[in-house]
Amino acid sequence: MKIKDIFEEKEHVISFEIFPPNKNFSEERLKEVTSELIKHKPDFISVTYGAGGTTKSGTIEMSSHIKNNLKSEVLAHLTCVGSKKTEIASFLEEAKNHNIKNIMALRGDIPQGEDESIYEKGDYRYASDLIRNIKETHDDFSIGAAFYPETHYESNDLADIVHLKKKVDEGVDFLVSQVCFDNRMFVDFREKAEKLDIKVPLIAGIMPVTNAAQIKRIVQLCKSSIPSGLEKILDKYGSNPESMKKAGIIYATEQIIELLSYGIRGIHLYTMNKTDTTEEGTTKTTTTVKRVKQERQE
Ligand code: FAD
Repeated sequence: MKIKDIFEEKEHVISFEIFPPNKNFSEERLKEVTSELIKHKPDFISVTYGAGGTTKSGTIEMSSHIKNNLKSEVLAHLTCVGSKKTEIASFLEEAKNHNIKNIMALRGDIPQGEDESIYEKGDYRYASDLIRNIKETHDDFSIGAAFYPETHYESNDLADIVHLKKKVDEGVDFLVSQVCFDNRMFVDFREKAEKLDIKVPLIAGIMPVTNAAQIKRIVQLCKSSIPSGLEKILDKYGSNPESMKKAGIIYATEQIIELLSYGIRGIHLYTMNKTDTTEEGTTKTTTTVKRVKQERQE
């Protein structure tokens, strides 16, 4: 099913993100993880794409496994940096042959060992070029794209949202955010998006923090801020892994509850291929979604 149609049917959409097998994470283990994740009945699972196409076959194979063997909906990520149109067309054909209906269209980052000249080697400069190309050649996919409530690291806030609007106008059906720990930022961003007439559903990217050092690395890379409440949690529990995990799940759950109460349409859990944090977070989230729906009906 297309994710665009899932949003037509459901008020709230819950999804998980996994990364494909690599040298530290076997295909066998990932299949076990996805089987566990599927028990929580996500509306879809997304499978990331490695920088410069390094996991192209892994993305298709795992997406196909989720769609055709586990019978769950899937969103296959695709980056275009340094790619030729023929390579993108072959990925899309393969996805279509595996009955994959949804593509997350991304530019990607410059792979390690490369520099900006990579843009000259490929046929695309920005994600919007990829989205236009998909619409022109394979109009049967539902397309998602990335957004950054706190601005993409190469841009400034005004320019970034104007570029986002261009992506949406090229034919995006829904937007998934970079990991966001600060709901205020997310809701402020939604207001700005509405002013620019960006009407597609916004999905919030949530990551339960289980490792303080890891989260500090992530925020440095992607420019997401850590609100003072979370900072205090990191200071207090950061050196105790068990307590950190519990506190991280509680923080993420409260974040989700608040976002749903603000009418945010989608929650996307960055699982990092872990089942335990997702399980606890999801059980609490599912209960919350049901409660919010019930309250609205009353
Ligand atoms: P774009 O939308 O092209 O934006 C990139 C930058 O260019 C922004 O600063 C934007 O403001 C600017 N820009 C856009 N259009 C123009 C224009 N016309 N003129 C001037 N500037 C412009 N990476 C992977 O390698 N694999 C993945 O699977 C993956 N999944 C992701 C999933 C999500 C939800 C998110 C948020 C990110 C993901 N990424 C992934 C990372 C992503 O590839 C990087 O953040 C990348 O730097 C930007 O990709 P984009 O698609 O947002 O690019």
